Amino acid sequence: MIETDILIIGAGPTGLFAVFEAGLLKLKCHIIDALPQPGGQLSELYPKKPIFDIPGYPSVLAGDLVDNLMEQIKQFQPGFTLNEKADTIEKQADGTFIVTTDKGTKHLCKAVAIAGGLGSFEPRKPLIEDIEFYEDKGIEYFVKDPELFRNKKIVIAGGGDSALDWSIFLSNVASEVTLIHRRNEFRGALDSVEKVQELKHAGKIHLITPAEVIGLNGAEHLESIDIDENGAHRTIKTDYFIPLFGLSPKLGAIANWGLEIEKNAIKVNNALDYQTNIEGIYAIGDVNTYPGKLKLILCGFHEATLMCQSVYNKLNPGKKYVLKYTTVSGVDGFDGTRKEAEKAVVKSID
Ligand SMILES: Cc1cc2nc3c(=O)[nH]c(=O)nc-3n(C[C@H](O)[C@H](O)[C@H](O)COP(=O)(O)OP(=O)(O)OC[C@H]3O[C@@H](n4cnc5c(N)ncnc54)[C@H](O)[C@@H]3O)c2cc1C
Repeated sequence: MIETDILIIGAGPTGLFAVFEAGLLKLKCHIIDALPQPGGQLSELYPKKPIFDIPGYPSVLAGDLVDNLMEQIKQFQPGFTLNEKADTIEKQADGTFIVTTDKGTKHLCKAVAIAGGLGSFEPRKPLIEDIEFYEDKGIEYFVKDPELFRNKKIVIAGGGDSALDWSIFLSNVASEVTLIHRRNEFRGALDSVEKVQELKHAGKIHLITPAEVIGLNGAEHLESIDIDENGAHRTIKTDYFIPLFGLSPKLGAIANWGLEIEKNAIKVNNALDYQTNIEGIYAIGDVNTYPGKLKLILCGFHEATLMCQSVYNKLNPGKKYVLKYTTVSGVDGFDGTRKEAEKAVVKSID
């Protein structure tokens, strides 16, 4: 049995940063993730995409942000159970929990933080005949490595942020980028929509709306697609077709844990500490919902911080915690300063 203070379900950015905040409070963490590597959506869906809204980073590649988060938490030595899904939970009489994975690994903890993001990553596939035949032969549902598309002709379909962001990014990688959407209006960020229009006028993106992909052609690999553009049919030559219609959120077994769920997300108390309807179980990051919720990395960081403070207060009743900035208390970082950091943290807790 693995024992820890906070068991974090999900090694996305929210779960990883929670380890750091817990470490400052001398709380030990263990993380379970269904994927073989940490990083959540950043590693699985867009490791090479730049992110522009992380405070202090004008631009950072998603994969680099994950590496930095791992570096930042190394000093607190979290445990990892990777490649396993949290499956069942049992609340004990003393308020502790036992969480068991689908492979039978048991974890005993004082608090559970669900940072499960979108759950398992199941792309929404368009209903096109023979689409399965072309998977990995020209059909890609994620852009894991943009280099796959270098100097290739690609067609992206979709109307949200993923379709817009990748069209913009890949316009500098692929030899030809076509963006197809079934409506004239896009759902993504205004800034991205404007950028796509700019690239269209510069001849770097072909924009076809309203249109839908209705057929796929090619003997061994995708060679062309058939589209319906406002009722007229035509064929476009392409090496890759990337339908980005979002991911169908699947909470999986967590949905049966007795938690209040609204639209596939876990309801939490956002006025206080992101705790669910079950005392001792928190939900942070993309997996939770509350009025005004935004699914952004920095919001997950904030929620993780308040969750850790709440767990600390519950586990140390009567002990006064005085918040100090890490810069003031001397917690300035990584391996070399760990001893000083720990001393400073103890001081700030006492
Ligand atoms: C293309 C794209 C671009 C984006 N760009 C930005 C951006 O520029 N800025 C920004 O702020 N946000 C962006 N986002 C959103 C951002 O990625 C999410 O807000 C962020 O990943 C949420 O982090 P998280 O840790 O809460 O969840 P996730 O990153 O989804 O991680 C959750 C983890 O939990 C694991 N998990 C789920 N259920 C279980 C279970 N039962 N057992 C074990 N493990 C489980 C999953 O395997 C996953 O690894 C973007 C998203 C996409 C798709």
